[in-house]
Amino acid sequence: MSYEIKQYNGSEFAGKSVFADVDFFPALDRINQYAKDSGVTIFVTSSYRDYVIEVKKDNHEIGHAIDMNLIINATGHLCNSECLPNDPDAKVFFDLIRNDGELRTGLDFHQPDPVHIDDGYNQNIIAWTIKHDGGNTGVSSTDEIAGNTNSSEGPDVSDLTRKNKKDFFLVQVF
Ligand SMILES: [Zn+2]
Repeated sequence: MSYEIKQYNGSEFAGKSVFADVDFFPALDRINQYAKDSGVTIFVTSSYRDYVIEVKKDNHEIGHAIDMNLIINATGHLCNSECLPNDPDAKVFFDLIRNDGELRTGLDFHQPDPVHIDDGYNQNIIAWTIKHDGGNTGVSSTDEIAGNTNSSEGPDVSDLTRKNKKDFFLVQVF
């Protein structure tokens, strides 16, 4: 198993384009529905991140996480990391996320990360590693740095994603 990054389009999504593993698309569909049900628009600031050197078992790295602010539809207010824990419409949205059974809001992390939503894939490090490496241990991160990654074996990183790489790094300032 490996990950396959594609662009996701949802009616309740705005901001940056969402790039995610196709396995995460059903979760994004549910997030889209939760936004509809709670009267918010998901303003995406970051999704898939193509780290050259792996720093941590991050769900962004396999396309199973998004960072976002919420636009409160009733007022048009952009609710950022300071607003997200306190806004009543945002609370409706986050409660739907909490009741999903698979999804997590970063609000509930030990170190709260209100803008973050994922499916907890890295809770199982073995599953995460298989997902990340595609069961192929022959491709090391030094190969990737040298540009020697065999595209048939390694992670599927599209030209589009590479072009947007700078954008992904630009929005990693928290
Ligand atoms: Zn995040």
